[in-house]
Amino acid sequence: MRQAVFDALANFEKPASAYDIAEEVSKRQGRRVAANSVYRILDLFVSSNLAMRVESANAYVANQHPGCLHDCIFLICDSCGQTTHLDDDKLSGGVREAAANAGFAATRPVIEVRGKCGDCS
Ligand SMILES: [Zn+2]
Ligand SMILES: [Zn+2]
Repeated sequence: MRQAVFDALANFEKPASAYDIAEEVSKRQGRRVAANSVYRILDLFVSSNLAMRVESANAYVANQHPGCLHDCIFLICDSCGQTTHLDDDKLSGGVREAAANAGFAATRPVIEVRGKCGDCS
């Protein structure tokens, strides 16, 4: 089941919701797979860094570089949904530092930029 969920997730070109993935896995396996069980598996992937959650889209993408830990920055196109991911440790480090300066312990900064991608603008 985990493998099926991961394969479906990796196949999406855009961030996919648990419902998108449940539908895809159901189609492939010829049986109804509940979004709830997909959610649980996605959470597991996120905590083991195999997938990343795009908060503002309420969706997930497969992690291209599961071996390295970054605070990923997502650029999300409002027109086509295409999501690009950047790593800029200087920028995300600055967010962590600003939080620390405010006496706040940041566990997971979420940096997402909405707008239009190169194809849509
Ligand atoms: Zn990253
Ligand atoms: Zn676009």
